[in-house]
Amino acid sequence: MYEPVIGLEVHLQLKTKTKAFCGCANYFGEKPNTLVCPVCLGLPGSLPVLNQKALEYALKVALALNCKINRVFKFDRKNYYYPDLPKNYQISQYDLPLSQNGYIDIESEGKSKQIGIRRVHLEEDAGKLIHTENYSLVDYNRAGVPLLEIVTEPEINSPQEAYAYLTTLKSILEYLEVSDCDMEKGSLRCDANISLRIGKSEKLGVKTELKNMNSFKAVRDALNFEIKRQREILESGGEIVQETRLWDAEKEITTSMRSKEEAHDYRYFPDPDLVIFTAEEEFLESMRKTIPELPRKRSLRFQQEYKLSPYDAGVLTQSKALADYFETCIKLYPHPKEISNWLTTEIFAYLNEKKISFESLNLEAEKFIRLLKLLELKQINRNTAKEVLRVMLETGRDADTIVREKNLFLISSSADIDNIVEEVIRTNPGPVNDYLKGKENALMFLVGQVMKQTQGKAEPLKVQEVLRKKIPKGGQNA
Ligand code: ADP
Ligand code: MG
Ligand code: ZN
Repeated sequence: MYEPVIGLEVHLQLKTKTKAFCGCANYFGEKPNTLVCPVCLGLPGSLPVLNQKALEYALKVALALNCKINRVFKFDRKNYYYPDLPKNYQISQYDLPLSQNGYIDIESEGKSKQIGIRRVHLEEDAGKLIHTENYSLVDYNRAGVPLLEIVTEPEINSPQEAYAYLTTLKSILEYLEVSDCDMEKGSLRCDANISLRIGKSEKLGVKTELKNMNSFKAVRDALNFEIKRQREILESGGEIVQETRLWDAEKEITTSMRSKEEAHDYRYFPDPDLVIFTAEEEFLESMRKTIPELPRKRSLRFQQEYKLSPYDAGVLTQSKALADYFETCIKLYPHPKEISNWLTTEIFAYLNEKKISFESLNLEAEKFIRLLKLLELKQINRNTAKEVLRVMLETGRDADTIVREKNLFLISSSADIDNIVEEVIRTNPGPVNDYLKGKENALMFLVGQVMKQTQGKAEPLKVQEVLRKKIPKGGQNA
């Protein structure tokens, strides 16, 4: 029985205002080669200076991932030749990285597990090549953008666990507000290392490294494919070649890109242009203070404080914006369960349908709560409230105006309901008789008729009550 062994390397662009070692703007989507200077173009005589914000963001992430911060860390040159790398080396960290030995807790298929973080280090991004049919273009706007590399221990044992790790990691990173974490824009990228071993044997198998996945789902799919491919090779007595393979999302296969380079191929050495850094405890403490309550802890608090189910609490705390919104609502209207239900059903359904994120939702907490209050005050019924919410989301208008304009207020006057009920009893002798003979279904039919007459603006329970009160009399009189 083969067991998959997986280690993930995530590269994260930090959203600092300027690049890692120069003053150029760190901005995606600008005209090619407009955000460049002698430093990030690697022109002779230029000197890098570390961006303090990049260091702060990196430390925040390292601390949030429970890493040990190295008291002394340095930058090294990783040498290789490629047209997207203007200096012919990348400023990275080798033997004395910023931080090591952290972990994060994940939940996968109902089980909790701790995944070790081997290291979190700071480096710079390369430029971008744009390939056309006959030639390639290079854009250096991205060269020198601060990049964090977050590497796990080979402790992930299934594609689903890898998926859970990535979702959890992304949620933490979003809470820290250090990156867009947008895989489509390339601000979060993931390479997956995978090998198979027999049972729980100590020795790890030969791994392949998968690249070119542009969503977490693609990472999971690529791993599933690769497990199958490696298993078939091993079962037929073959050997795995250590190599880098590319995921082809269309064909749903991985193909060989190049055989694996070794660290010595990069001729790492300390970058003589950058000083050796010392992390002062006081500075680390000030960084620790900037870390907000993280998703897992917040989810546990939501379960305790608001009596939410683990599932609802998990869903609501996955995005910081959503969790903040939920808590703003609670302050205005202390009914956690009701708010949670509306958010996780009606509002999520709307987001899914429109394929938008919660962040781009157009619904102020005050307006949303006003709708829930109209419902509580029985000014409208639940179905109407759902309908009004839709209009609110589409137009940004408030509940009262919509209800008034569309005349959706519940018919609350008993006299009005009485009249309609009596009319329905008069015009439906058959069902009334059935009900008198003990058929409960017939009563539901009559409720339906009343709801129809009121265009859905009556409270069904109240209608039922009035019908029950009136039918025995009506029956006798008929
Ligand atoms: P490389 O030198 O090829 O970059 P590293 O030792 O730096 O390899 O590890 C890179 C990633 O691969 C880490 O996430 C690590 O956990 C994972 N890894 C290392 N060895 C294996 C293996 N045999 N099977 C699966 N993953 C592995
Ligand atoms: Mg590596
Ligand atoms: Zn620059």
